[in-house]
Amino acid sequence: MTISRAQGSVTFPANFMLVAAMNPCPCGFYGDPTKECSCSESVVSRYQKRISGPLLDRVDIFVEVPRVDYEKLAADTSGEPSATVRARVEGTRRQQQGRFQATRLTCNAEMSPTEVRQYCQDRLEESARSLLRLAMQQLSLSARAFHRVLKLARTIADLAGQEEITSQHVAEAIQYRNRGRS
Ligand SMILES: [Zn+2]
Repeated sequence: MTISRAQGSVTFPANFMLVAAMNPCPCGFYGDPTKECSCSESVVSRYQKRISGPLLDRVDIFVEVPRVDYEKLAADTSGEPSATVRARVEGTRRQQQGRFQATRLTCNAEMSPTEVRQYCQDRLEESARSLLRLAMQQLSLSARAFHRVLKLARTIADLAGQEEITSQHVAEAIQYRNRGRS
């Protein structure tokens, strides 16, 4: 990461993955299906705007995490084991290292616009291309957001073991964008 200011520029070695969580509003119940939020709309809006737009624009995946019902917590059924997920992620990482072995890149997130064109835009199925065009217009996505959606769709396709990016992969990538701010 290089930071340039009037006095000169400094390069910091930095390669990290940011994972963060926040409440939807001061009381914590905005959007809750059962308990009503006691905050006014203006308070909710002010609260959510405390994180700057340019910072949010750099976050690839937004996921709303609703409260889990007691019945679900107490149920015997368990989800997919972490070990299985880990194996799938490691396999996909290896596949990406193979894709970029002739370059200095190691994973999809590091792709520049040139690689995005080669590995994402040129691998879109026709229906995926139309869906992306529509989303760009309706959500007025920034150029940065456009590239981020494409990289994410590439990764979703990789996890599914598919070379071509389908409209399903693009749709999933788009729904991870931050609603309201694109
Ligand atoms: Zn609230």
